[in-house]
Amino acid sequence: LAVEQQQVVVIGAGPSGSIASAILRRKGHQVLVLERQQFPRFVIGESLLSHCIDFIEEAGMLEAVRNAGLQVKHGAAFGWGDRYTEFDFRDTFTPGAGSTYQVRRASFDKLLADQAEAQGVEIRYQEEIIAVDNSGEQPLLTVRRLTDGYCYQIRASFMLDASGYGRVLPRMLDLELPSSLPVRKAVFSHVRDNIDDPLFNREKILITTHPEMRDVWYWSIPFSDGYCSLGVVGLEERFVGRPEDLETCLKEFVSEAPNLKRIFKNAVWDQPFRTLGGYSANVKSLHGKGFALLGNAAEFLDPVFSSGVTIAMRSSSLAANLLDRQLRGESVDWEQEFAVPLKKGVETFRTYVEGWYDTSFQDVIYYENPQPEVKRMVCSILAGYAWDENNPYVADSRRRLAVLAELCRSNG
Ligand code: FAD
Repeated sequence: LAVEQQQVVVIGAGPSGSIASAILRRKGHQVLVLERQQFPRFVIGESLLSHCIDFIEEAGMLEAVRNAGLQVKHGAAFGWGDRYTEFDFRDTFTPGAGSTYQVRRASFDKLLADQAEAQGVEIRYQEEIIAVDNSGEQPLLTVRRLTDGYCYQIRASFMLDASGYGRVLPRMLDLELPSSLPVRKAVFSHVRDNIDDPLFNREKILITTHPEMRDVWYWSIPFSDGYCSLGVVGLEERFVGRPEDLETCLKEFVSEAPNLKRIFKNAVWDQPFRTLGGYSANVKSLHGKGFALLGNAAEFLDPVFSSGVTIAMRSSSLAANLLDRQLRGESVDWEQEFAVPLKKGVETFRTYVEGWYDTSFQDVIYYENPQPEVKRMVCSILAGYAWDENNPYVADSRRRLAVLAELCRSNG
């Protein structure tokens, strides 16, 4: 096979890949992105957190994102029976961007990738990594061009795996670990929502807890074009005995939540229905000789707080800045400067995800008389500022959540 020499190869052109490659390019490095699909392509993960904005800006893409006509998002709302709580991301303990966006990922990911390309990143679409040999001095990747089956190899100084659910390097370098979270699945679609409920706020994601099964929840993520992403999440066993047909299954779940039944009463269900399960994943290491793992190619927790793209972008920024230093001849410590700091925020989210499912955090969220300062601290985490150690609910998340939940339960 023909062998090509490259400096940095990025696997995948999702948000992780585009942000990392643009940051590296802006620092003067040659970057090649290999993406197996043609863009635009569908992927789930449509509600961004405020902290994403920092990385979009760092990658030089903020103006393009601001001008793209995306649905502005100011926060998150939670509903359970007649309980309803709103968080406003413009009022957080941690200073930072407040508003963010709700996006169709097909066009959003294309926008980011085009922005990376416009800054000099080379992207080859419909080219798939099919093998990786990491035994030599430099990684050697085997690539198949999907349009004609032509295969070739690339030797690179460094590879960044941004392949998301493709999990290319974890699979090929035997790095996969099962997640500590149980297997859940989601069923979802985009609906033409026709929402006329005056209480429904298009500028927030709405998370609804199932009236009886508190581990089952729904997302409603409105877009700017009159459509809304609507999905239900539960343990696999919650889907046993439900209709096999995804459309009937989703509609049945939605009809069980009175608020959603009301909000979506005029909805037109004219888009494909999809399902995804077993998405939580972990890895033995986030880096190794000649490579680092970004975004979902590394670890994915759970969709409930929309943290996926934020963690992905944060990992891209950390890795790109470290790799820049390494390529300029500095010695860097990938464990101490990449894995450890990245995992801090992931662990914060893990606390609240686990608290969501064991209902301690739900009891906090649905508590009717929160202290404003505590609410701003919790709101910071929901807005994505899960790395801010000044926030006691980050620095000491497990103990703080346990104490707060106890308080809410005894007063609630
Ligand atoms: P991706 O966006 O998946 O991109 C990876 C790219 O790599 C793809 O384009 C793929 O084609 C390419 N690729 C894969 N294999 C190869 C290969 N062999 N060769 C070349 N290219 C390859 N996150 C949020 O922030 N907000 C949400 O509201 C949200 N909701 C979610 C709901 C559900 C049900 C689930 C499961 C997840 C949700 N997420 C959400 C998480 C979100 O989907 C991911 O965190 C996010 O897409 C990660 O981005 P990425 O760039 O790492 O990977």
